[in-house]
Amino acid sequence: MPYKDPEKRKQQAKKYYKQHRERILAYTHDWWQRNKKEQLKKQHLRYQKRKHLFAERRHRYILFKAYQNRLEVLKAYSGEKPKCACCGEEHIEFLTVDHINGRKDVPETGQRLYRWLKINNYPEGFQVLCMNCNYAKGKFGNCPHSGKEWKPEYEYYRDKRNVLPCTSLGAQIK
Ligand SMILES: [Zn+2]
Ligand SMILES: [Zn+2]
Repeated sequence: MPYKDPEKRKQQAKKYYKQHRERILAYTHDWWQRNKKEQLKKQHLRYQKRKHLFAERRHRYILFKAYQNRLEVLKAYSGEKPKCACCGEEHIEFLTVDHINGRKDVPETGQRLYRWLKINNYPEGFQVLCMNCNYAKGKFGNCPHSGKEWKPEYEYYRDKRNVLPCTSLGAQIK
């Protein structure tokens, strides 16, 4: 006898289950034994179809975690609103952590560096720079907007060429 009131229907179903518990469980068990193979196969196919979604989600999660770690380190070195210590650039996308005195003592870069800094409680010797200022500092000694001495790009390449003349290259090839 179906009830119109859902609450009553629920109670009736509960009562029915209580009265016939053994029989229902036996039937379910029996059904599972008969359909196990087919059901597991279906489950496996369903998983295979959606597998790439799980991989994507995992990948997105890893990227998100990496972003969070980076943001935490930037904030630790530059305050609540991180910015480049040289030019004041504020877009998080451009910012990175600079080894003030070079990478001799702490060779880590990227995510490994962020993890290292966090574990070591943000030691001194690091600052937040934008990619431009960091690149220029690494390559030309100082950033051109710093007012400090720096080597213009043409001089940098001229000096590199003198260090490694063509003859020595030839000798290496032999
Ligand atoms: Zn900058
Ligand atoms: Zn700069």
